[in-house]
Amino acid sequence: MKAVICKEAKLKVVDRPAPVPGKGHALLKVLRCGICGSDLHARHHCDHWNGLMVRTGYNGFMRSDQEVVFGHEFCGEVLDHGPGSSKKIKPGTRVCALPLLRHGEAIDLIGLSERSSGAYAERVVVEELLMVPVPNGLSADLAALTEPMAVAWHAVRRGEVKKKDVAIVIGCGPVGLGVICVLKAMGVQTVVASDFSPGRRALAQKCGADVVIDPAATSPFASWKDYGFIGELDGGLSLLLDTREKLGKLPIPWWHTWRLADTLGLAPKRPVIFECVGVPGVLQNIIDGAPLTSRVVVVGVCSKTDQIEPAIAINKEIDLRFVLAYTPLEYRDTLHAIAEGKLKCEPLITGIVGLGGVDAAFSALGDPERHAKILIDPTSTATTPH
Ligand SMILES: [Zn+2]
Repeated sequence: MKAVICKEAKLKVVDRPAPVPGKGHALLKVLRCGICGSDLHARHHCDHWNGLMVRTGYNGFMRSDQEVVFGHEFCGEVLDHGPGSSKKIKPGTRVCALPLLRHGEAIDLIGLSERSSGAYAERVVVEELLMVPVPNGLSADLAALTEPMAVAWHAVRRGEVKKKDVAIVIGCGPVGLGVICVLKAMGVQTVVASDFSPGRRALAQKCGADVVIDPAATSPFASWKDYGFIGELDGGLSLLLDTREKLGKLPIPWWHTWRLADTLGLAPKRPVIFECVGVPGVLQNIIDGAPLTSRVVVVGVCSKTDQIEPAIAINKEIDLRFVLAYTPLEYRDTLHAIAEGKLKCEPLITGIVGLGGVDAAFSALGDPERHAKILIDPTSTATTPH
């Protein structure tokens, strides 16, 4: 089969034997595979990333001297099953699958490990248990967005965003755009999106953002008064004293009323902010700009050492949450939400290439004006994304 290998940061199309499904595995014909920012990052920095994974207690991550086939965002057609499989999903079925593969006790990340090659290829082996049939005749293009959209789905769930909340999305690359699509699918009324690139701001609008901001001109947090947030510590202290004063005028002791308000979960309004950039300094920028008691969900993967000033976050009682990937249920729900037309993520797809165009696509993705998500179609001969 044809596959794109990465070794010593070089991408090359090669002929290699198709992978053989082992125990509990299934073999897929790849229909589409998305190029992920993680792939771009792993190409040049996987040794550093490997070190971070080892420190987290995971030893199977790729290294630069290995021959790795990327590709963890895919949709394919079942061709065959390995020994000991249940074979419940028949050959010919179109599926997506979580990119994890068991080899005995070990679990590999498909497309980010040497042993479990990914879907930048004509064939890929997946864990049978983790396959989800594509419902509703959904196109392979949109089905291939399941994995990145599941990341966004999980992030929004972890953010516990209510429909009436204001969500602020910092960074409108594929991750930020995905978060915007999921927020709108979940009925969140006000989604503010911020990005320096005009192209990405246009995509954010297409994904449903209600307010789009150029942070070079305005802070994404500038309208805090309009949304009823408390922007300054001064205001927070005033609120405490004013509330105490008001409750003191009631005929019942103020502490009973205050306790009741606590029990009911009454609290000052605050936004849920999604950090979707993953570059040093962004977290501090958010902490500096965010209103009091903001909830910050960190989705952008910053693998460099970053600095924050905790005292500022303490003064504002900022709630920081970090998120990773998704559960099998979130993955399935995401695919079904896309297939039912509830989760609209089509604007993310900005190009399609063949395996011979992967190198060019990696370069093209460096320009935020033109591209968000480029999909690989292994049957295509396109050498530049179109
Ligand atoms: Zn990814």
